[in-house]
Amino acid sequence: MDSSPQTHLKALHQLHLQLHELKQQLERGPKLVKARQNAVLQKQTELDAQREKQKQLRMAADKKSLNLKTNEAKIVELGVKLNQAASNREFDIFRSQIQADKMANSVLEDEILDALEQVDASQTAIKTLEQELATCKSEESRVANEVAQKQAGLKSSIASLEGKIAVEEKILPGDVLIVYRRLVGAHGAGALAEVNNKVCSSCYVQLPPQTLVVLKSGQLLFCKTCGRLLYPGDDD
Ligand SMILES: [Zn+2]
Repeated sequence: MDSSPQTHLKALHQLHLQLHELKQQLERGPKLVKARQNAVLQKQTELDAQREKQKQLRMAADKKSLNLKTNEAKIVELGVKLNQAASNREFDIFRSQIQADKMANSVLEDEILDALEQVDASQTAIKTLEQELATCKSEESRVANEVAQKQAGLKSSIASLEGKIAVEEKILPGDVLIVYRRLVGAHGAGALAEVNNKVCSSCYVQLPPQTLVVLKSGQLLFCKTCGRLLYPGDDD
């Protein structure tokens, strides 16, 4: 009984399950790195947008400052004209123009202060985004290094498991091996199924009594319902 190929199936199944787990971990690695790369790209996009906004805000503030200077020069000019006024009527006109321009400048000064505050706030936002970007980048390289290190270990564990599986597989007779290989290709570790409480653990269909008898005699059997290579569990 102990030399029967069937007694190797549980171990073979365990090896396949471990292989499946390691292969999943191997696939997960690049996805983790990709997610970090995307986070960096997204943060960079946010930063670029904020820098562009900063440029616009600064241009708007500069434009208002220029308007203020132009108006101030105009007021000086009007002051000269006021002093040279030939009549009271002219004097009143220049005076009211000066008043209107001073009023406009006072509004403009408030707007400039507001614009400069916006520039400052935007500058602070840029600094925050720059720090966040730096954090994203260091996270990316940390994860990339971690994954690269782990991948090497995983690949060698996978190679070692595949070696062990190849050894276990040698016990299978040729005709069974052909079907088994097809099953592994299609279902991976699911090529094998333990029978627990007379039920196939892959399709959950109960096995007929005569099938159970054959199975317990140590013969290699495929489930009639799902086709998996069966082996008896500990409680059968
Ligand atoms: Zn089945």
